[in-house]
Amino acid sequence: MACIFCQIVSGRIPSDIVYQDEEVIAFRDIKPQAPVHLIIIPRKHILSLAHLSEVDSALVGRMVAIANQLAKKEGAAQNGYRLVINCGEQGGQLVPHLHMHLLGGRGLSDTLG
Ligand code: AMP
Ligand code: ZN
Repeated sequence: MACIFCQIVSGRIPSDIVYQDEEVIAFRDIKPQAPVHLIIIPRKHILSLAHLSEVDSALVGRMVAIANQLAKKEGAAQNGYRLVINCGEQGGQLVPHLHMHLLGGRGLSDTLG
């Protein structure tokens, strides 16, 4: 099992998990780019947004709903936050397991790469 996020799901590598249920887990990014920087992932290994099958597409809605709850819990909701899903090489995706970034707690640039 080479996938680093699958290893976080299985507990083989440690992470600072802030949320988990039967389908989704969320943990703190190891190299945070904002005071609040969480990674939200499906437990299931899905390579990227481009590899999301119709059957699994509802997962992304769940990930957004969980991110919204976590933004509130982390105190980032009131002033605003950003959800990002990088997809593929040119989309800036480094870890090949579908994930959403929740960024907040500071003013973020109004440019998108
Ligand atoms: P991306 O460029 O969208 O693939 O982002 C991958 C993110 O995963 C980066 O922000 C990394 O800092 C983060 N990351 C990589 N390895 C770990 C890890 N072991 N624990 C927490 N976050 C990680
Ligand atoms: Zn994986």
